[in-house]
Amino acid sequence: MKTGRVVYIMGSGRSGSTVLEVLLANSPDAVGVGELSHVIEDGFIKNKKCSCGEEFRKCGFWGRIVARVESERRDWERLNRILRGVEWHKGYWLTLLGLQKKKVQCDYKEINEVLLDAIFEEGEGKYIIDSSKYAGRALALSQQRDIRVICLLRSPSGLLNSFRKPNKEEQRPKSLVSLFLYYVYVTTSVRLAISRLPTQVFKLNYEDLVKNPSRVLDEISEFTELNLVDVKRKVEEKRMHTVGHLITANRIRKSQYVTLNTKIEVKDRHTLIEKVLIFVMQMWAKLLRL
Ligand SMILES: [Zn+2]
Repeated sequence: MKTGRVVYIMGSGRSGSTVLEVLLANSPDAVGVGELSHVIEDGFIKNKKCSCGEEFRKCGFWGRIVARVESERRDWERLNRILRGVEWHKGYWLTLLGLQKKKVQCDYKEINEVLLDAIFEEGEGKYIIDSSKYAGRALALSQQRDIRVICLLRSPSGLLNSFRKPNKEEQRPKSLVSLFLYYVYVTTSVRLAISRLPTQVFKLNYEDLVKNPSRVLDEISEFTELNLVDVKRKVEEKRMHTVGHLITANRIRKSQYVTLNTKIEVKDRHTLIEKVLIFVMQMWAKLLRL
């Protein structure tokens, strides 16, 4: 059953994807689910705490999804392996090259249909906002659903500042070399996905969202057909946005409201080697037309 549209946020870690997801999920037509790619593991398997304060299975929203999808016995460990095998790092290349086994493709499609249908019906939204970020998920989902992809990236300098901040729950601070390799990997994988996606992709830099939120929200609204009138007003009035029911590991999961911080941190205290790497990363992104 095809019940609505998925607005999918693809991109790198620490690029403001959760903030963007919270903004879009505050549309009256939408339901935000965080990183749906992690919900089987963090929710169905580990029963982690939701942003509403309840455990996944006891949460007012996810509890209803659980009741609906667990009416049939499911092997969540196996389904999680299938999901990772299609969307995550190594699996991405198989998906990109069309080399996934038929059985894996069928099981992948089935579990996504079941989850998305349950969320559309229980969430009563015409749109699901999914911020899983994996390029592989954008590719695989586009083969089965009406999807609009927003490719969200952050400037190399902003990414470097962000990855320096210690944060136990998210990706750990990276060394310069691993950050560089991570950036090259993510930008290459999103570039390849963009060229393969049957739908158009909206390319967005986090810095543009922060500098010009009203204009960017108008563009996203036009691209996705999401009603963002109230969201835009709240951003302009610097009001809070409600965080829905997020399960996946993120600091925002621990707050019930967020505001869009429209001040860009300017920390130009980069060392020479950092400046060189930032320059190479900028050139790389330019080469990939990102
Ligand atoms: Zn909840």
